[in-house]
Amino acid sequence: MAHVLVEDGLFAGTDPPVLAGSRCSSCATVAFPAASRCPGCAGTVVSRVPLPTRGTVWTWTDQRFAPRPPYHSPVDGFEPFVVGYVDLGPVLVESRLIGPVSIGDEVDLRLLDLDHGITGFGFGRVEP
Ligand SMILES: [Zn+2]
Repeated sequence: MAHVLVEDGLFAGTDPPVLAGSRCSSCATVAFPAASRCPGCAGTVVSRVPLPTRGTVWTWTDQRFAPRPPYHSPVDGFEPFVVGYVDLGPVLVESRLIGPVSIGDEVDLRLLDLDHGITGFGFGRVEP
């Protein structure tokens, strides 16, 4: 299945989905999205690394109004969604959450249809 990705650079792969971050060669700080300059020490020797695909919900909230641009509301209109941070170990990732979720829930990465074939990502609860 072909995906039109919301942003190519976010992904290390899509089958199965894996997010791409960056890892600093000086201080080992991992960033997402991948950065060309380390947010920890401002070093410029960074490499792209695949991120873990499982983590835990660090915190979450309901997004009940359309965010400001560059967010684009779906053509069918804005629908509230759940957003939060997922602790992947080396990095916290801001993400859509496929609810309902609670803080501490184990979640895994999934592709998410954002709007008529535009594919993004989200994390959904791993059923025990
Ligand atoms: Zn660094």
